[in-house]
Amino acid sequence: MAAIELAGLRKTYPGGVTALDSVGLSIADGEFFALLGPSGCGKTTLLRTVAGLEAADGGAVRIGGEDVTALPPGRRDVAMVFQDYALFPHMTVSDNIAYPLRIKKVGGAERRAKAAETAGALGLGALLGRRPGELSGGQQQRVALARAMAVRPRAFLLDEPLSNLDARLRLEARTFLKRLQRELRVTCVFVTHDQAEALALADRIAVLEAGRVRQTGTPVEVFRRPANTFVASFIGSTPMNLLDGVVAEDGRVLVGGVPLPAGPHGLAAGERVTFAVRPEYVGLRGTPAPGALPGRVTVVEHLGSTRLVTLDGEAGPVRAVVDEDAPLPAGGTGWVVPRPERVLLYGADGGLITA
Ligand code: ATP
Repeated sequence: MAAIELAGLRKTYPGGVTALDSVGLSIADGEFFALLGPSGCGKTTLLRTVAGLEAADGGAVRIGGEDVTALPPGRRDVAMVFQDYALFPHMTVSDNIAYPLRIKKVGGAERRAKAAETAGALGLGALLGRRPGELSGGQQQRVALARAMAVRPRAFLLDEPLSNLDARLRLEARTFLKRLQRELRVTCVFVTHDQAEALALADRIAVLEAGRVRQTGTPVEVFRRPANTFVASFIGSTPMNLLDGVVAEDGRVLVGGVPLPAGPHGLAAGERVTFAVRPEYVGLRGTPAPGALPGRVTVVEHLGSTRLVTLDGEAGPVRAVVDEDAPLPAGGTGWVVPRPERVLLYGADGGLITA
């Protein structure tokens, strides 16, 4: 059992930065869990606190049911893979992978056999005699993973494991990492600031902001129902439309003076809300219609099979993702039609209202 329980973790650095502000998380045994958030939100501090490389000011870390809060890193039985891989440049791949076994005083023959076996599992069998400087970024990443795996830890802690790879290699390494985690079924916590990476890889995601967990959920949950406007604006490869609105007498929401259907919400007329809808969940028309927001087309970006169209309307900029060959509105004015079942409303405090 290697579930990870974090309770009330607090950490303030000298100088007064609160990196962890009462963080509580339950990570299940065998789960692939992402810590996601913008730069400086405390992701690395949290991971290092789980590893024992950083001491929290308060709170507890439990791994496999055992309270490890006071244990040094070496006795927590978890392996951390660093962003820069931290390989020893003068050692061969084989020696790098075997290094933690040497620390654990495993004998030479067994060490080499285990290193070779782990290297084989990661497709590094032919590279055992090379040094890190003779490897590609992706290969170095695999060596770092192999080194972490060789000791068969209870959990892997990965700090931005893909950030040193170029875009194409990143995709390959991502698929590889996911398959590996599925096969090993080992608890894996990884840090990323890349929401697409978190959505693609994780079973569940914790979204952090300024040392606090703002939402925990599956990729589908955080994408479909962000718990607050922070998560709504952070998740998604094209930014969510977040528009100021006022509830009308009939329950629709007035955005830039246009009444838009918004699903059940139970709010009284006159209440101020944020009307949220993803650019993927709106239609774009060339003619006016009820429930359609008018705007002047200002930017068209090609995304491959789709285009991202930005329109300037009464309520500010509105974005729509349309098919690559869909006609753009003639005359420069378009009408954006949100799909009512995909609309979310947020209150003045930024919290989700839509039932
Ligand atoms: P990034 O994605 O940029 O790596 P992060 O989310 O991992 O950021 P942390 O590295 O955990 O964030 O840092 C959280 C906050 O604590 C930041 O404001 C950072 O400047 C601060 N911080 C981190 N380490 C220290 C330190 N050793 N001393 C003082 N402040 C620190």
